[in-house]
Amino acid sequence: MSEDFLKWVGKLAARMGLRDWDITIIANADLPDSCLARCRIALGRKAAEIMLGAEFDKESAEGKRATMVHELLHCHFSRADEVVDETLPDLLGDPVYKTFYTGFNLAMEVSIDAVAVEWAKSMPLPPEGE
Ligand SMILES: [Zn+2]
Repeated sequence: MSEDFLKWVGKLAARMGLRDWDITIIANADLPDSCLARCRIALGRKAAEIMLGAEFDKESAEGKRATMVHELLHCHFSRADEVVDETLPDLLGDPVYKTFYTGFNLAMEVSIDAVAVEWAKSMPLPPEGE
């Protein structure tokens, strides 16, 4: 992971209103086969780890840009996820919560991706060769 790539991620984060977040990139992460990337956010903190799997490297520059915008968007939506995850398991009980969360998570992914695909078009592409 080059300095230029990390600067590019920082530029995207700044343009997306995440200047005050601590974003860590983890390359060559051990992710499931079809998974390009994953974002892990520290509970109650403005800190995230974005893990990039082997599939990310195979993406086009435009694909990498859309994926990175998608993962960064998770930072903005993490508070909603925290509220759901911190309050509903006790209220609903495990089986109902798991069923609810599957649908909630899918809805969040679809919504985040719809925004990411369009927003990414106005963002810079990653550095050449990355
Ligand atoms: Zn996602």
